[in-house]
Amino acid sequence: MQIIEVHTKSRPSTVFCGAGSAEMASEYLRGAQAFVVTDTNVSRLYSERIAQLFPGAPVCVLPAGERYKSRTSLFRILDAMLDARLHRSSVVVALGGGVIGDMAGLAAALYMRGTRIVQMPTTLLAQVDSSVGGKTAVDYRGVKNVIGAFYQPERVYCDPLFLETLPPREIRCGLGEIIKTALLDDSIGQKIRENTGRLHDLAFLHDLAADCVRFKAGIVERDETESSGLRKCLNLGHTTGHALELLCGRRSHGEYVLIGLWLESFIAEGEGVCTPAYAQEVRSFLSLVQPRIPRIPNAAEGLRYALLDKKNNGGDISFILPKARGEYAELALTPERYERYLNILAGEQA
Ligand code: ADP
Ligand code: ZN
Repeated sequence: MQIIEVHTKSRPSTVFCGAGSAEMASEYLRGAQAFVVTDTNVSRLYSERIAQLFPGAPVCVLPAGERYKSRTSLFRILDAMLDARLHRSSVVVALGGGVIGDMAGLAAALYMRGTRIVQMPTTLLAQVDSSVGGKTAVDYRGVKNVIGAFYQPERVYCDPLFLETLPPREIRCGLGEIIKTALLDDSIGQKIRENTGRLHDLAFLHDLAADCVRFKAGIVERDETESSGLRKCLNLGHTTGHALELLCGRRSHGEYVLIGLWLESFIAEGEGVCTPAYAQEVRSFLSLVQPRIPRIPNAAEGLRYALLDKKNNGGDISFILPKARGEYAELALTPERYERYLNILAGEQA
């Protein structure tokens, strides 16, 4: 069991990574009024286990999928919390992927101005990334994460048992954020380079997840609310990734991050942020998990969405680009210049 403390100013949280952490969550919440939020898929697979872990707790089951990360789902959770007469010391348990974690986290932040929240991420993506750091949100009017709050979970329990039922595609999504982190922290990069054959071994992935959590904890501790600029580094590959996610929406976040990293490696190279050799290394790293990068249709439309990205100031589009092993650089491009890359790349793949 790896235990990682996240010393954030608003509220410290503790992350438990390893087999048996679900049982630890159960013990931790014994005697508390627990309220479980999950989705239809997780409920179908784990309803008995949920009942065992949290006996008697109400379970709010939401439809699965990114498109249900909505105001409607948020208010369904809040309604169910009210119906269950939760009070401020009740504990919301977010048991699911990133979508459930984001929505249950926001509901917990809002209900009575803040109830307790424990995250139990069940996807690799959520275990690696979204369950840690306190970002909560829903999408609204086509804008991703536009209604949200920073609200730290008091505990995060990452149990590898849940990964066994994940479809391969969901594993690849988690790998998207793992590769991103490996580009920012070369000790993780090194571990992957030495174990390329193990990238589909769940035990190895779970071990990498703990490394990623440790890296993210270090960043979040120093810049909890993305104000000093440090936390921005976690957006490597995300400018393009988010734009495509909004535009195409068929794949999931982690896969768009992989595609975004791929496109942005060309930008880094073209703008002189990194050497052509390093850009090539980034792409060969990505090809370990996504051998074929899909063609990007309608690049101009993608650009329009990128411009809505709330990270941008003014007209230019801001990117976090790979610079060298474990290093990144921030760069702003005019929409025209960015569009040129998108067009070239869309053409190249045609
Ligand atoms: P994320 O990839 O951000 O974690 P979601 O919360 O949408 O995104 O989860 C991705 C999909 O995986 C959803 O359809 C969800 O119901 C499903 N899912 C979540 N956990 C598991 C699990 N342990 N086994 C199988 N499917 C799962
Ligand atoms: Zn991400």
